[in-house]
Amino acid sequence: MGHQRMKVIYIAGCGRSGSTLLGRMLGQLDGGLYVGEMRKLWTWCFEPGWLCSCGDAFRDCSFWEKVFGLAYGGWDVVPHQRAVLIQQKIDRARYLPFLLSKSGNRLLKTRIHSLTEILQPLYDAIKTVSGAEFIVDASKDPTYAMILASMRNIDLRVVHLVRHPCGVVWSMMKKRRREDVQGGTIYMGGSTLWKAAAYWTVWNRVFMHQIFSGALVIRYEDVVEAPRDMLARIMEFAGFPALTEVPFITGGRELLLPHDHSASGNPMRVAGGRLVLRGDDEWNSALARDQKEMIRKICGGTAARFRYSFDAPSAKGVQA
Ligand SMILES: [Zn+2]
Repeated sequence: MGHQRMKVIYIAGCGRSGSTLLGRMLGQLDGGLYVGEMRKLWTWCFEPGWLCSCGDAFRDCSFWEKVFGLAYGGWDVVPHQRAVLIQQKIDRARYLPFLLSKSGNRLLKTRIHSLTEILQPLYDAIKTVSGAEFIVDASKDPTYAMILASMRNIDLRVVHLVRHPCGVVWSMMKKRRREDVQGGTIYMGGSTLWKAAAYWTVWNRVFMHQIFSGALVIRYEDVVEAPRDMLARIMEFAGFPALTEVPFITGGRELLLPHDHSASGNPMRVAGGRLVLRGDDEWNSALARDQKEMIRKICGGTAARFRYSFDAPSAKGVQA
């Protein structure tokens, strides 16, 4: 096990950029497996009531039970707490300057090594249990991407997914209850405009300029306009032959997505069945003119690099 490197398509960028939808689609392609946001695995998925996207409680899911059994010998010996502790000391935005520095930092290198020692058997087990040729990880954060890139059993292909900043900011401001957890109540959203807009700019600039210069940039709006073409472009980038069939696209913008086993991500991950890709311009009526102007001031320079305009509502997406 572990002799052949696992190809991982890593969806990078901001939250609320449509990565769950893109990840689910990629995971349904021949040889694919969407696992959700693996970065959140240790902190979220072990919480009571947390659901796998198949609908079972995460701890009761037969897929993850087999994965953890093969990787570590069973649920009881999963190095959960240790992974959480190490991740807190390396996989955070505050460590990004150290991770990016050429000389590196001996202490942080030791921490990365400790974390990858835990992650390598996990990714190997995912490959063995699923039989997949590639896995799709929508963790998005640059720090986790850098940790995966350092792993000897992973061949990382980074797809930088961008979405119009107004769509991302509005989605981050809108407060709603998560549907993918049972018992208890967890909310998402509720950010301030300034914080969300700054996050959009910094994260997209980090991916654009500083890390993984070979990343493939994909606009969420183009995924919605032409899903088949964008999937084909990503698969070509990842080194797979041209797409022939995309069975889950049942109409131009109609998808029929079965349940999968994603560990984390946007709550839409638990919704199986028919989805229609449609215009995502809720933000255009929801945001006041001065709010859009503020977003333009904070994000405009970077947004122009991705051909985003603030003149007219042009963003498209599913309403999630
Ligand atoms: Zn499951």
